[in-house]
Parts: sequence; C-alpha cells; structure tokens
Amino acid sequence: MFKKIDHVGIAVKSLDAVKALYKEVFDLEPVFEETVEEQKVRVVGFKVGESNFEFLEPTGPESPIAKYLEKKGEGLHHLAVGVEDINEVLQNMKARGMKLIDETPRIGAEGKKIAFVHPKSMNGILLELSQE
Ligand code: ZN
Repeated sequence: MFKKIDHVGIAVKSLDAVKALYKEVFDLEPVFEETVEEQKVRVVGFKVGESNFEFLEPTGPESPIAKYLEKKGEGLHHLAVGVEDINEVLQNMKARGMKLIDETPRIGAEGKKIAFVHPKSMNGILLELSQE
C-alpha cells in the first residue's frame, strides 16, 4: 500500500537561503521549483535517494505555512508517502474513522494527486498521501 517515502516537507522562511546553503555545502541544485497557488506555497525540491526534501516557503500571510512558521518556527512540517491508489487508501482510512484533512485528492507539487491526513490519526505526524 505504501510504496516509499515520497518526500519530507520542511517549512522555511526563505527558499533563497536554503538554495544557497545546499549549493554551497552539499553542491546540490533543486530538482524542481514551483508555486502551488492553492496552498499558497513556493516549493523547492532536492533529491535524496529515491525521495525528496521539499522546502516550503509561504507566498503570503494567509498561507498555512506562514501560520505554521509563526507558531512553531522552521522545521519538519509533514511526511509524504507514495501510494498506488490514493482513493482506495482514503476510503480505507475513512472507513476506520480516521481524521482526514482532504476527503478527496487535490493536485500538489509536480502535478501529483495528494491528500493530507490529520496528525491526530497518525501518531502526531501530518501525513501526506501522494500518487504519481
Ligand atoms: Zn508535501
């Protein structure tokens, strides 16, 4: 059901600072960079083996990431797992009474189908389901 850790989402204040640091220290260039308007975030991805680090910077004060940064500061925001059939996984979780943030998938970075599951149902982790 879970194929791999797709990415780790990390909330940051400045993507430019992250890009400069990763270039300087690790000689790494982003594998993608885009704005996801729906979630009001700019995203920069770095390859880590089969997974990515995804750094998230808010595009404005209304962004959920802006609120997260205000409350908790920079850091680990969510964990994303790749799945074969996101609708099936969502249905199974719903049938078990698990708390879903997205009952139906939406489109995230890299055009993937994604849905978030509430940390209350995932041992304190904000889990993102992701389907290619
Ligand atoms: Zn994500």
